[in-house]
Amino acid sequence: MPENAVWFITGCSSGLGRALAETVLGRGHRAVVTARDPERVADLVADHGDRALALPLDVTDHAQVADAVKRAEAAFGRIDVLVNNAGYGYLAAVEEGEDDAVRKLFNTNVFGLADVTRAVLPGMRARHAGHVVNVSSLGGLAAFGATGYYHATKFAVEGLSESLAAEVAPLGIKVTIVEPAAFRTEWSGPSMRQSAIRIDDYAETAGARRAATTATYGHQPGDPVRAAEAILAAVAADEPPLRLLLGKAAYDIASARLDSLKSTFDTWREITLGADFPGKETP
Ligand code: NAP
Repeated sequence: MPENAVWFITGCSSGLGRALAETVLGRGHRAVVTARDPERVADLVADHGDRALALPLDVTDHAQVADAVKRAEAAFGRIDVLVNNAGYGYLAAVEEGEDDAVRKLFNTNVFGLADVTRAVLPGMRARHAGHVVNVSSLGGLAAFGATGYYHATKFAVEGLSESLAAEVAPLGIKVTIVEPAAFRTEWSGPSMRQSAIRIDDYAETAGARRAATTATYGHQPGDPVRAAEAILAAVAADEPPLRLLLGKAAYDIASARLDSLKSTFDTWREITLGADFPGKETP
C-alpha cells in the first residue's frame, strides 16, 4: 500500500467507519470520508486539509454512489482501498420479519455494497491495483436466532466477496472480508432496527436473543480503534487475508463453527458420496 494511499470509506458517521477514517488519516493516508449526513464527519476532515474529503453518500442511492466515486477520483486521481462498511442490524424471528424492512436491510447491506463496488472497480482495473475491504460480520459465518435476516445479508456479502476475490485476483486487485464480533459502536444501540411483530412462541428463542443483543450496547468487548488498526495491518500485508476475524469471540465462535461443519460433513459422508452416479468421480 502506498504511503499516501487513497481510502474511500462508507458509513463514517459513527462506529467502525468513523474509527477507521480517523486512523487512516492519522497515519498520513488520504481518505474520502462518506456519510449520509456529511455534517457528521465534518470534524473528522477538518484538520487534514486536502488529504481528506467529506462526501454525502447513502449507499442505496445509485446516483449518489456514482457521483461520490466520480468526485473522489477527480479529487485524488484514484481509489486505492475501498471499504464497504455501511450497514446495520435488524432483530426479528424469521416469521416475525417485515417484508419492507427486510428489503431495506438488503438494499443497504448487500445491494448498496455491490453498487459501490461496481462503481469503484473500473478505476482499479485500469490501474491493475486496489483493495476492496468488505465489512461482513462473525454473523456472516455463523447464525443465531433473532438475526436471521441480518445473517442472510452478511452471508450474501461473504459469497459475493469470495467470488469477487477469484475474479479480480488476476487483475491485481485484492479482497478482504472483515468479520467482527461485538464491537462498541452504535450497532446494537441506536442503529438497531427491530420488527414490531412479536409472536409469543418465539419469546424464549428469538425474543430472548433480541433482549440479549440490545443489552450488549455500551459493553461490547471489541474496540473500534483496534479494529481499525487491524484492518490497516491486513491491507498493508504483502499477502492480505481473504478473511479477517476481529475479536476473541469471533475467533472462538468461527473456529467452533468450522469444527461443527466438519463433524456434520463426516457423519453424513457415506450418504453424501452415495448421491453421485455409480462409478463417477467428483470433478
Ligand atoms: P454503527 O456505529 O451503527 O455505524 C454504521 C454506519 O453505517 C453509520 O455510519 C451509518 O450511518 C451507516 N449507514 C447505515 N445505513 C447506511 C446507508 N444506507 N448509506 C450509508 N451509510 C449507512 O455500527 P458499526 O458497528 O460501526 O457498523 C459498521 C459495520 O460493521 C456494519 O456493516 C455492521 O453490520 C458491521 N458489524 C458491526 C459489528 C458490531 O458489533 N459493531 C459486528 C459485526 C459487523 P448513519 O449514521 O447515517 O445511520
